[in-house]
Amino acid sequence: MLDLYTNENNPAALKILIAGNFSKTDINVKIVQTNDRKLEEPKILPYLEIAANRTIFMANTAARYLFPPQKNESECEHWISWESIILSPLIVQIGGNTKSDTLKSSLISCLKYLNENIKENISLIDSEVQVCDIIIWSTLYPLYNDPNFNKEYFNGFDELITWLTLLESSEAFQTALNTIKITTGASAYSALVNGMRCAPSIPLNLSISGVNNSPQHAVEAVTTEEVNAAKEAWLNNVSQISGIKDEVYPVLPKPGEKNVLITSALPYVNNVPHLGNIIGCVLSADVFARFSRLCNYNTLFICGTDEYGTATETKALEEGLTPQQICDKYFEIHNSIYRWFNIGFDYFGRTTTPEQTKIVQEMFLTLNNNGFMQIQVVDQLLCENCNRYLADRFVEGVCPHLGCNYEDARGDQCDGCGKLVNAVELKNPRCKICSKPPVIRNSQQYFLDLPKLEPLLLHWIEKSAPGWSHK
Ligand SMILES: [Zn+2]
Ligand SMILES: [Zn+2]
Repeated sequence: MLDLYTNENNPAALKILIAGNFSKTDINVKIVQTNDRKLEEPKILPYLEIAANRTIFMANTAARYLFPPQKNESECEHWISWESIILSPLIVQIGGNTKSDTLKSSLISCLKYLNENIKENISLIDSEVQVCDIIIWSTLYPLYNDPNFNKEYFNGFDELITWLTLLESSEAFQTALNTIKITTGASAYSALVNGMRCAPSIPLNLSISGVNNSPQHAVEAVTTEEVNAAKEAWLNNVSQISGIKDEVYPVLPKPGEKNVLITSALPYVNNVPHLGNIIGCVLSADVFARFSRLCNYNTLFICGTDEYGTATETKALEEGLTPQQICDKYFEIHNSIYRWFNIGFDYFGRTTTPEQTKIVQEMFLTLNNNGFMQIQVVDQLLCENCNRYLADRFVEGVCPHLGCNYEDARGDQCDGCGKLVNAVELKNPRCKICSKPPVIRNSQQYFLDLPKLEPLLLHWIEKSAPGWSHK
């Protein structure tokens, strides 16, 4: 007998109860208040207690734990993540009575996507109900059973309606609905949201009155022993999880499995990475990659240095090295710093490798051969002394914006007034390398013909991204 803790009217609890019915697990429902201070950490409802002091606090994970995918696991995983990343957040906002047309049309496209994918009236995967069906059904239940929402959203989705009513009438679903009462419409979704924001916890070893309540003291309250204990607990728990596959290199896509490709923004080679680079760029991707590997997804996490561009050239001039030397030097610095921070890239490469060059050139040639490139003549500054066209950052002069007159404005931006600058409009322009005045010349540049590509891109987005969030 397992205990399921939930607040009243929370549709996420249905997921766990129904999954329990399918796996013939006895579940004892305990209704609790969201402000109950005795709730287990991390104080998210509903949660399932699977052993003393061991709880699963994500409803989808708990449902999956009770009733794992029976077949077509990767497809099932797809639907579960689709529900948690796209469908559920959308419905919660709409259930909260947000009347935005974008949200509405996003939800309708989600329902259309479901309608098109229901097989034999009974499942999204096959001819038998699976955990992904249970999860999605539970989230839709209050929406579908609300007369207003029903009229607004479900019109014409016959397969979806048949599926919803058929599952509702089956025994495993009915038993769950009789155990926990779920109302229809917005109030069920506010119970769902409230379950995620339960009573704030009081940090250990931290007095809540007086001077110790300041954030600085909160940081100091964590001792080295506590950090080590947390690290040990984390590592032990990870090694105790059974059934995690070893990674096989090179990581290649595997048919029939969930394949996840993760990248983070590529850093330029003009700086030594600092904490901001780690936090703002690679850390969140690393956390997600670790999560993804723990889920046994076939995961590839790649990144590398972006070595092309004016940033490299300027840095090379500054340090008196060639661009190649700058790239080699800073690639090593970036690579070793990320490794030191234990960022788990499967591959940390460079944009200048022969493989990358070949791929990029093939893309360019394909676009060019198919008529998607255009040549246009643009005005550009040429330094006759250095015999080179000057990219934005290689020209300086007096800011052209009215009333500014800042003397050292760059060809892309003025640090005096903060406004963007068009290089050819600078007053008294000078070459950053030799300080001689450049001249304006025509130069031919390649442009990607985006209007011509638009219909193809739109077609691709519609085909490959049903139900993507509107952001
Ligand atoms: Zn200015
Ligand atoms: Zn020059």
